[in-house]
Amino acid sequence: MRGKLVVGNWKMSGGLKQNAALLEPLSTGWQARAGRRLAVCVPFPYLAQARDALTRTEIAWGAQDVSAHPSGAYTGEVSAGMLAEFGCTFTLTGHSERRQLHCETDAQVAAKAAAALDAGVTAIVCIGETLAERDAEQTEAVIGRQFDAVAVALGSRFAQVVVAYEPVWAIGTGRTASPEQAQAVHAFLRRRLASVGAADVMLLYGGSVKALNAAALFALPDVDGGLIGGASLDANEFLAIARA
Ligand code: PEP
Repeated sequence: MRGKLVVGNWKMSGGLKQNAALLEPLSTGWQARAGRRLAVCVPFPYLAQARDALTRTEIAWGAQDVSAHPSGAYTGEVSAGMLAEFGCTFTLTGHSERRQLHCETDAQVAAKAAAALDAGVTAIVCIGETLAERDAEQTEAVIGRQFDAVAVALGSRFAQVVVAYEPVWAIGTGRTASPEQAQAVHAFLRRRLASVGAADVMLLYGGSVKALNAAALFALPDVDGGLIGGASLDANEFLAIARA
């Protein structure tokens, strides 16, 4: 039973005051129902604030990246064990902004996902093609390669991750994948999941999801929810997406 999950990705947005103004209406406005989960992935310095605001609510929290290493001389990195200490349920791994702006490789994303699981933190593994790759009809080849890197590294533990399909051309652009485009890729991923014995892994869609388009996307048979960037910074919009 996969259920539904909506995760907000605040990216590098916020501040103590703005976060408080966002977390308060979320915590009072979200009524969980069986199989429906909500989470926010916040910048590292605000994990304690998210924990304090959300501990007695039905909303989970997490980080946007994690080190592949458990500890040591890795200046600037944050380990999965540290995320666990702050009560993180989730961490994103391999977001396209990390892959593109920080040159993260498939192997590094796989190592980060493994490190997260080692510490009991669920990795949300982000994969997706660029517009040039889609136009060159390389979508399945690209996301298949990104998927396989993590699946091979994790083996049977792959069943413990969440996968987020985020077409790079849809992130922060206002250009959402059509329900047909999203379902086609999610169906491909669902078959791939079944082939590695992980058919019940949740598959999120991400890329310019708004309250207006969320219901159509989340109703698709192989879409189990969403990863929401910009729209997660507005409490009413984010709650409307979550209720969809
Ligand atoms: C994201 O950053 O993961 C994302 C999906 O962003 P947006 O919703 O703003 O497109």
